[in-house]
Amino acid sequence: MGQHASLAPRRASFPKATGLSERSPARPVCGGRYHRPWSRRLRLDQRCDFATRHTGVVLAVAPAPLVCLDPGHGTAPAIGRQTEPIGPGSSLRKIKDGGGTPGEAPVALAIAFRTREILRRDGYRVAMTRTRDGYTGGNIARARFCNVHHAALMVRIHADGSQDRAQHGVKTLVPALRRGWTDDIYAGSLRAARAVQAAVVRQTGALDLGLVPRTDLTGFNWADVPAILVETGFMTNPAEGRLLRTLAYQLKVARGIAAGAEAFIKR
Ligand SMILES: [Zn+2]
Repeated sequence: MGQHASLAPRRASFPKATGLSERSPARPVCGGRYHRPWSRRLRLDQRCDFATRHTGVVLAVAPAPLVCLDPGHGTAPAIGRQTEPIGPGSSLRKIKDGGGTPGEAPVALAIAFRTREILRRDGYRVAMTRTRDGYTGGNIARARFCNVHHAALMVRIHADGSQDRAQHGVKTLVPALRRGWTDDIYAGSLRAARAVQAAVVRQTGALDLGLVPRTDLTGFNWADVPAILVETGFMTNPAEGRLLRTLAYQLKVARGIAAGAEAFIKR
């Protein structure tokens, strides 16, 4: 009992005369471990750790991981009508952009902006294939854009449409396994899709329609980085379509996409 009591005054013995509180030490404390190795906090930690052992030269730190956001559609119509091979060496061609479901392109773009904001706040870099209407590329260009940015993940953002107005819910499309096209990104894409689908469903409360493997998506087959496509809901369902057009719901979707992407990248 006496021994315990003697430990108690430690807090009080902190030197008040320095004017420093225990929460603001005079210099950074070395040796802390942080979850995000690219964050400024680790940079401080590394500098500190390095300086304790070396000559004060500051280490270069790997840049933050980059998430490539690809808001669907929004292509200039003359370009959208052009075709392109669905995969490297394929004789099968598809149009670059059929335009999507009415109202989809602006909703996808709005969700992408909100997702970008969250990811940047959390310390990630973000690249977007398009930031307005009138995109001049196809799906090969979208994939290549994410490839050259060495994205940790490409997230294609879309919304669904159906003749059946009762259909609603969220699903995530993933590249099906095909040697030479998707074998390099298959496993990572699947892991990312699971994380993002779960997080979007959790944030929105929307119906979980699960994952859907696709062999025919140009934007997957040309990707060299993990790639997924989130169908964020049905524009054609009266209730869900209305929600998707509201800023509040777009933010929920964005929170889910960001949380899922971060969970995937941190793993
Ligand atoms: Zn679409």
